[in-house]
Amino acid sequence: MKQTIIITGGAGFIGSHVVREFVTKYPDYTIVNLDALTYAGNLENLKDVEHLPNYKFEKTDICDAQAVLEVFKKYQPTGVIHLAAESHVDRSIADPSAFVMTNVIGTVNLLNAAREIWNGTSTGSAQGYEGKRFHHVSTDEVFGALGSEGFFTEDTKYDPHSPYSASKAASDHFVRAYHDTYGLPIVLTNCSNNYGPNHFPEKLIPLCIHNIINNKPLPIYGDGKYTRDWLFVIDHAKAIDLVFHKGKNGDCYNVGGFNEWQNIDLVKELCQQMDAKLGREPGTSAQLITFVKDRPGHDLRYAIDANKINKELGWYPSVTFEQGLAKTIDWFMDNQEWLNNVTSGDYQKYYEVQY
Ligand code: NAD
Repeated sequence: MKQTIIITGGAGFIGSHVVREFVTKYPDYTIVNLDALTYAGNLENLKDVEHLPNYKFEKTDICDAQAVLEVFKKYQPTGVIHLAAESHVDRSIADPSAFVMTNVIGTVNLLNAAREIWNGTSTGSAQGYEGKRFHHVSTDEVFGALGSEGFFTEDTKYDPHSPYSASKAASDHFVRAYHDTYGLPIVLTNCSNNYGPNHFPEKLIPLCIHNIINNKPLPIYGDGKYTRDWLFVIDHAKAIDLVFHKGKNGDCYNVGGFNEWQNIDLVKELCQQMDAKLGREPGTSAQLITFVKDRPGHDLRYAIDANKINKELGWYPSVTFEQGLAKTIDWFMDNQEWLNNVTSGDYQKYYEVQY
């Protein structure tokens, strides 16, 4: 079936990989990238695919309900994949309101628009829910923290601790509520930490790559024992493709890398690979490691049980962490202009030149 899919947040880190996966794999589909281009949105992430005839871009803020509805009316989507969000925990601690606006209100605006177009009456062109799907992309952080044992499953009780995870948890609840209350066809994925090309350098891995190249300190929170599960971003995009097309209506799927690392070990692995890449003496980059004051409310450990998506849909990560990290380092080394543009803020001019 031909589809028109609105992908929100398509200019961001994960969204750009999802857009690329869909525009190249499904030439018959129309893919509409709906993005407000905040500091995290970068159309340079898509410059290899933006010429494709099935790719469209709409610069729209999901907090603007009317503007969102206009885009839905214009394209009459059969599907929505919702990634647009404020996504950085430290920023949420500094300013929670922006997270409530985009992650909660913005999500509700999208749910309302989908409901209106697919099953509403005011437009007079309701298409019905048959063949439609609203895929909400969320995080494992909604489940809170684990001790040294155990995993988050799809049935784990929500227990968010940061303003970011609280806003994502609220958005997840609204998505489920629209399914239970109005019958909106939804699927939801909760994924662990992603890494890979196009990652904004405020996050741990790209920040460390950037700082190692520039001989700057590598900041590690607390004692470095915080543990996260890491997934290569292209494997996340493939999981989204699978759940969007084959997931069961109303169901949630955990997505993870079966790959837990303490921050300190991860940064040491990164230092080792970077030393080899840069032709530096082994141990050179590790000297840049600097322990910094802990983040308030920091969750000790996240670990995802991704057995449901594995058993039901046959998804499994395609690369090991060492392979994914090597690909990521190569990408950042080959795209230092991208990194420089992002760190200097110049990437924001791309939209003005291109559109
Ligand atoms: P990102 O910050 O890199 O990108 C977010 C995108 O959303 C940007 O392009 C930005 O311009 C856009 N956006 C922000 N506010 C908007 C608004 N009001 N209207 C329209 N567009 C807006 O985020 P990411 O890391 O790619 O994460 C994407 C999604 O995946 C988020 O929903 C996040 O919660 C979820 N997620 C992320 C991770 C991770 O490790 N990064 C893990 C699991 C889930």
